[in-house]
Amino acid sequence: MTRKDRTEGIYSRREVLDESERRQYYQIHLKDLLTYAYRYSEDVKKRFDRAQFSPDKFKVLNDLKHIPIIKKKELIFLQTMGPRLGGLLTKDLGELRRIFLSPGPIFDPEDRVDDYWGWTEGFYATGFRPGDVNMITFNYHLTPAGLMFEEPLRNLGCAVIPAGPGNTNTQLDIMQKLRVTGFIGTPSYLMHLAQKGEEAGLNLRKDLYLEVAFVTGEKFPEKLRNTLEKKFDIIMRQGYGTADVGSIGYECFHKNGLHVSNRVFAEICHPDTGIPLKDGEVGEIVVTAFNKTYPLIRLSTGDLSYIDRAPCPCGRSSPRLGNIVGRVDTTARIKGMFVYPHQVEQVMASFEEIKRWQIEVTNPGGIDEIVLFIEASQFKRENELFHTFRERIGLRPELKVVAPGSLPAQIRPIEDKRKWD
Ligand SMILES: [Zn+2]
Repeated sequence: MTRKDRTEGIYSRREVLDESERRQYYQIHLKDLLTYAYRYSEDVKKRFDRAQFSPDKFKVLNDLKHIPIIKKKELIFLQTMGPRLGGLLTKDLGELRRIFLSPGPIFDPEDRVDDYWGWTEGFYATGFRPGDVNMITFNYHLTPAGLMFEEPLRNLGCAVIPAGPGNTNTQLDIMQKLRVTGFIGTPSYLMHLAQKGEEAGLNLRKDLYLEVAFVTGEKFPEKLRNTLEKKFDIIMRQGYGTADVGSIGYECFHKNGLHVSNRVFAEICHPDTGIPLKDGEVGEIVVTAFNKTYPLIRLSTGDLSYIDRAPCPCGRSSPRLGNIVGRVDTTARIKGMFVYPHQVEQVMASFEEIKRWQIEVTNPGGIDEIVLFIEASQFKRENELFHTFRERIGLRPELKVVAPGSLPAQIRPIEDKRKWD
């Protein structure tokens, strides 16, 4: 059987707008959204009024920063504040197609429009093509994941097996009998299928027919990708999104980070002030999806990343999010500096004698103190470590070398023990 070309082409022309077209595209969609939301969403009106912002003040993209950010965890409370999910919706619940529930608890409305969750261009970029037979292993119960990923596959002319999670042996059986070409799920579940398949004596390349996989919902290390791509002989790409807004970004064939979905305006903002940061600087991902039904304007996701605008060989002109480098809640501000676990990890990676590490922050007498614990049988490069640490993180920690295995098995990279009273 000859394989389809899954590496070329685009789904929609809006993926390849040039710079000025793109600016105009964002401008028009945002203006339209702000105007509509201000008029029909009680919550948006309230928030804009409180910030003394009105949609006619939106002249250039930069003006968006005058709108206060809405935190994901605020939704839990806001949604209980009255009808139409506390005035966040611009229509009545009965006019929707579906209403889901995700952890929080947060309700996730789905309107009756084509490509509501916006994943179709991302699935095309991943490599799904008409005629594919796909297995969706995400949950279909209450959470939007299962049905959310059916939508793009239907739009691309593919068939779906709504497998849901679990029943691994049945899944492997279906994959053989129906010659499943596409997998949708978490990377760890695909790894689980691989292990179970191998245990059952299957040759994953010959006995199965998998060619493409879309994964999301978990950290996706490059090493795991390489392993699974080789094991199954597939193209494996990841997407990034949330249950509130749907698609935010996706990888193309070239694996250059996550192309921002063209139904979203993404900003990288300072986690404290909400002020947009420069390209390349790490901060919190703040998104505005062009969704008039559920206008979550400047929703902060709690995830940390950075913007990359260098051209991508695939031709898509959307900015890209670099990898998701962490969560805001694992980040600590120490002596006025933001310390991100991934930055510390980068420093530690250059000292192979360091097995594991942890930072402990305390504030005796109201002054921050930072202790860096490292597990090493011997450590002689203290000065080099202090130098690199200060250069990259901007701080000089106190160093405590402990024997390998001394730190607890499960540790938070930054243990914040400061007291605030
Ligand atoms: Zn690309």
